[in-house]
Amino acid sequence: MPEVLTGDIYRFEDMLSHHERDILLRVREFLRSQVVPIANEFWRREEFPVELVKGFADLGIAGLAYDEVPGLRPSSLLSGFLAMEMARADPSMATFFGVHTGLAMGSIAACGSTGQRERWLPPMSRMEQIGAFALTEPQGGSDVAGGLRTTARRVGDTWFLDGAKRWIGNATFADLVVVWARDVEDGHVKGFVVERGTPGFTATKIRNKMALRSVQNADIVLDGCRVPEDNRLQKARSFRDTAGILRRTRSGVAWQAVGVMLAAYEIALDYAKEREQFGGPIGRFQLVQDLLVRMLGNTTSCLGMVVRLAQLQDEGTYRDEHSALAKAYCTTRMREVVGWARELLAGNGIVLDYDIGRFVADAEALYSYEGTREINTLIVGRAITGLSAFV
Ligand SMILES: Cc1cc2nc3c(=O)[nH]c(=O)nc-3n(C[C@H](O)[C@H](O)[C@H](O)COP(=O)(O)OP(=O)(O)OC[C@H]3O[C@@H](n4cnc5c(N)ncnc54)[C@H](O)[C@@H]3O)c2cc1C
Repeated sequence: MPEVLTGDIYRFEDMLSHHERDILLRVREFLRSQVVPIANEFWRREEFPVELVKGFADLGIAGLAYDEVPGLRPSSLLSGFLAMEMARADPSMATFFGVHTGLAMGSIAACGSTGQRERWLPPMSRMEQIGAFALTEPQGGSDVAGGLRTTARRVGDTWFLDGAKRWIGNATFADLVVVWARDVEDGHVKGFVVERGTPGFTATKIRNKMALRSVQNADIVLDGCRVPEDNRLQKARSFRDTAGILRRTRSGVAWQAVGVMLAAYEIALDYAKEREQFGGPIGRFQLVQDLLVRMLGNTTSCLGMVVRLAQLQDEGTYRDEHSALAKAYCTTRMREVVGWARELLAGNGIVLDYDIGRFVADAEALYSYEGTREINTLIVGRAITGLSAFV
């Protein structure tokens, strides 16, 4: 992994402030020295490198986006660049970090009371407590808004959660899982912080994934799981509040997709300069340069898109369709880019040691999580026509 972003030829990185750029460079160095060398091996073994959590914590970036955490609140541009940088090194680690900071901490920041934010965000920002976010269900993926089946029943000051969740990242070891359930009383979706060890909660690791293999995704069963009223996120009143969290994290996935494209481009460019065929480097062939330039075009156009998205976020003017379009578009372009990079490496492109194979596989998960291309397309389609095509 090069120390500079060779794929950022318009130098979007220069838009960061000096202070933000220092943070980015520190994170880049950590990823280069600590994460990249072990990424393939943990991916192969389907294991999460627990020992890296302290390194991530020492970077001091988990709580950057939230008020309760002392320090300089960064721009959405920095948050985006950090997500991108992590995915450029290892999409599994980017996902682990995104689930913890974006989905779990983001839920508490957006939907928790002041007391709940003060209780959970500081230890989560220090990464002493790791979070997960449980929305998707075995029968409810794309239509989770209307089809959420997990129930919450209140008896006195205790809630009883019953149901099942699927695909929940970090859930096998998380200290806190934000579980979304439908209140049987008023029919609205509400959020609950389920702490590790709560009776009635079990998480079983999903094995044999072909993507993001270091991420510990789990099937969760909630069987009369008892949660105190104090752990109900007080400002989560309906699915609209849940959707607000996804709006922000979806833009994070678009940034991750750019990170994957940068990695693929950099791997392919290095290979094109080194690999020799017909008496010289393959990079001298016009058709090989065509692949590289197509990769660079996709990467650059998507980077420009997410940079503008970050500006809209900071202005407070971005809407669902902005992040949905970026997520759908950037992950689609990403799939092309990893395919072209794999093509350029030919046989070696399918060997894990050459890295690109991991990015090809991981791209498939990014393409589908946080709303598939179809669902994000329907969100944008509804916004631009005023007509809903959801059925
Ligand atoms: C690696 C990974 C990590 C994840 N992490 C988490 C997590 O931490 N927490 C969490 O809650 N969830 C998580 N998810 C779940 C993820 O968000 C869902 O997989 C995703 O929303 C799609 O749901 P589904 O897989 O059930 O697909 P389905 O909803 O069953 O979709 C199947 C196909 O039908 C299409 N389709 C569905 N409805 C329509 C329609 N109306 N019009 C056109 N096409 C349609 C879809 O686009 C898709 O192609 C994760 C998933 C993966 C793969």
